[in-house]
Amino acid sequence: MTGNLINGDWRKARLFGPIVGLTLGVLALLILTTAILVHRFDDTASAREQHMFERGFAQQLEELDKVVATQVDWDDAIVMMDHRRDAAWIDFNVGNYLHTFNGFTRSFVVDGDEKVFYASANGERAGLDLYAPFRPIAAQLLPRIRQAEKARPPLVLRPGKDNIVIPPIQGNTVTRIGDQTYIVIATLVQPDFGKALPKGARAPVTITALPIDARLLGIFAQRYQLDDLKLTAPDAKSNGRGNLVLRDLSGRPVASLVWTPRRPSAILSEQLLLPLLLMLGLLGLVAWTMVRRSGIVISDLIASEARAKHLAFHDPLTRLPNRAMLFERLHSLLATVGSDTSRLTVLCVDLDRFKEINDTLGHHAGDLVIEATANRLRTACAGAALIARLGGDEFVVLCSSGCCESAEMLGHRVLEALSRPIQSEYGRLEIGCSIGAVIIDRPGVEPTEALRWADLALYHSKQNGRGRLTFFEPRMDQALQGRRSLETDLRHALANDELFMVYQPQVDLAGNIHAAEALLRWSHPERGEVPPDVFVPLAEETGLILALGEFVMRRVFADTGSWTRLRVAINVSAEQMRSPGFAAAVARLAAEAEIDPSRYEIELTETALLSDEPVTAGNIGALKRLGFTFALDDFGTGYSSLSVLQRFSVDKIKIDRSFVSCLGDGGESEALVDAMVRLAKALHLRVIAEGVESEAQRERLASCGCNEFQGFLTGRPMGLREIVELAHESPGAAEAEIRKSA
Ligand code: C2E
Ligand code: MG
Ligand code: MG
Repeated sequence: MTGNLINGDWRKARLFGPIVGLTLGVLALLILTTAILVHRFDDTASAREQHMFERGFAQQLEELDKVVATQVDWDDAIVMMDHRRDAAWIDFNVGNYLHTFNGFTRSFVVDGDEKVFYASANGERAGLDLYAPFRPIAAQLLPRIRQAEKARPPLVLRPGKDNIVIPPIQGNTVTRIGDQTYIVIATLVQPDFGKALPKGARAPVTITALPIDARLLGIFAQRYQLDDLKLTAPDAKSNGRGNLVLRDLSGRPVASLVWTPRRPSAILSEQLLLPLLLMLGLLGLVAWTMVRRSGIVISDLIASEARAKHLAFHDPLTRLPNRAMLFERLHSLLATVGSDTSRLTVLCVDLDRFKEINDTLGHHAGDLVIEATANRLRTACAGAALIARLGGDEFVVLCSSGCCESAEMLGHRVLEALSRPIQSEYGRLEIGCSIGAVIIDRPGVEPTEALRWADLALYHSKQNGRGRLTFFEPRMDQALQGRRSLETDLRHALANDELFMVYQPQVDLAGNIHAAEALLRWSHPERGEVPPDVFVPLAEETGLILALGEFVMRRVFADTGSWTRLRVAINVSAEQMRSPGFAAAVARLAAEAEIDPSRYEIELTETALLSDEPVTAGNIGALKRLGFTFALDDFGTGYSSLSVLQRFSVDKIKIDRSFVSCLGDGGESEALVDAMVRLAKALHLRVIAEGVESEAQRERLASCGCNEFQGFLTGRPMGLREIVELAHESPGAAEAEIRKSA
């Protein structure tokens, strides 16, 4: 059960694995793609933002340049700042003006010799020493201004004329003074209309400084929509923030403007989150539904497979394990044998009278018996490792050491359980069983071998009178090997003319021979004479009897076809009668030999008639129609009933020699023989006694009313020539051949 579950789970996992894997894969791909896209989106947006701010900052500087240029580039400025050096005017138009309207906190004016002559702080006039910290940065800016001033076309005084539009000469940079960073702009004072010209070759220059402070940062942030814009030291790590490095004229970093870059992904994520979650949910739902649906399908599949497996490994009637499962289990149990003290007992159980019940009462009764047997075995072998039905009335019980008591006790319990009659709608059914057992206590035994040994032991139980338990012994195997080699020899004998017929006379009251029984003989070059009691049953078991029977018919017809006086009795086995083509084969042989069937009598044993088989009945009917008569051989030893005698309309009964040999012993034999003769007479059947060895036996038989005899007294089985001579018969073709060669 657990194995099934594990197996089922494993197979579910195999099917669900790809579905779940695929779903997770799709999800991962979706998330990854989104992440990459968002990242790229953010990167592009950051780069644009950076670029925009860089340009914006440069523009801002240009604008500041223009603001300053507007204040110092006009004719009045030349007059007031160069000619007169009017500090009040400079206060109003530069220091105070630029502070008030544009936030410049420092303004200075240097003359043509670069000497400062005006200073203002936060819009108020200040001491000239305020210029000291600005001197180094001014020293960088001024040479460039002067160079441009020099390169400028000479200025001409043009009173009354329009604006001459002289391009401003300016320079700007960024510097740090103390803990304040400034945008510093140097602007050459120039005329606009040309009404006044600078005094000397070099005009004054304004140095104005605008601090990059919270106010300015606020303006930048608002204008360029930057979040959290700050001024930091130039080496401060940006950590993914926007960063604009501010450099002085020599390219040295002075400070950094940093801000939190805008992340469109955040907005995008906000917008996408809901649809994405919905999509994921939907995808999950689809996957879950698929998994659930597949789960149901797989569960059904597993269940139906389990049912099919159960059917494949169990017998439908008894629900016991079948042959396939027996072999599987036997294989695994045998693998553990011998590793320690473990042993395995194999019991082969075969019902003794199942066939009779099945034949006489029908298959339903047979099924009842099989079911009852299975139930009794379940109880009797409760601790067994396995109880299996091999088919028909054969069962096998496997018992590991420890799970049952001794093999002998187990076997006897089974014998006892199956010997109790079964009460059924058909009355009390007595079945009984025979058991063959083998105890395996060494490793390396194959299942087929173990079963064969138990089967051999079973065969011995059957041979020795049934209803018993036999344990396998190696000599049984040897006996089997002996039977096998005998079988091989018999096949060889059939093909090599080692078989021949003898004929035993049958006489009447007056001692006249009126018939002969054909008896088969086998003269083996090494074994010598092999009695038919040995090789006929073997031929019946192996199926060789059909070929053997055909040989007998052919030979007997050839030997006796030309006889005119004697009738001939031929022994035919039950197996032959059960063969569907038997009557047709005999008819063909009879036609070939051109014999008269009415001179031939077929001897059948009672067991041949016992099974109410339609084939047997058909064969008998067909042969009777051809003219053959029938005798019931070994009468009294079997189970023939009156109805059988009547149904098959036998012509004659042969009282078995076991009754004859006991005549005169004072036992019941005489009464039995008397009864048999009366019965035969009542049914208008002829009677013959076989095995008559003495005159006394003959006389007693005669006094009972028996008028035909066969036995050593009146003639032993003899060769063809002898019987022909003894009975003054005309020789057959074979006999003629023999005579010729002689
Ligand atoms: P059966 O048909 O009952 O044959 C009679 C047997 O009794 C023969 O044994 C015969 O030799 C033996 N017998 C005859 N008179 C006496 C006697 O006075 N005393 C004793 N002790 N025995 C006597 P056999 O030839 O050994 O045959 C044994 C059995 O083998 C036959 O029994 C028959 O069942 C079978 N058999 C023989 N030939 C054939 C055959 O061609 N076909 C078939 N199917 N069975 C055959
Ligand atoms: Mg006979
Ligand atoms: Mg007989």
